[in-house]
Amino acid sequence: MPDKRVLSHDLENVYNLNEDAVIAAIEKHFGDDEEACRCGVCIEDIFALSLNKMPAKYIQNYFGARDPERLVDNVLIERTVRDALAQVAKHPHHD
Ligand SMILES: [Zn+2]
Repeated sequence: MPDKRVLSHDLENVYNLNEDAVIAAIEKHFGDDEEACRCGVCIEDIFALSLNKMPAKYIQNYFGARDPERLVDNVLIERTVRDALAQVAKHPHHD
């Protein structure tokens, strides 16, 4: 992926806080679901689909480090990841 820059200022400190929460939710669901395909294509599909279905939560690293739990809607994330897992299982892109 190309560097994110504006006027040579590096934007790598700005990121979508929901990404970490979605990763944690996917891993939790894999723990509960032995049947789910764990190939790279399916994992990437679940990750991208989940993030596309919810509003982004872009923040700067130094704010997120303070109190990330307050900014993340874990109920929404759990539900969204569960829906994405079901959708990818029904229509997988892997060979
Ligand atoms: Zn797969």
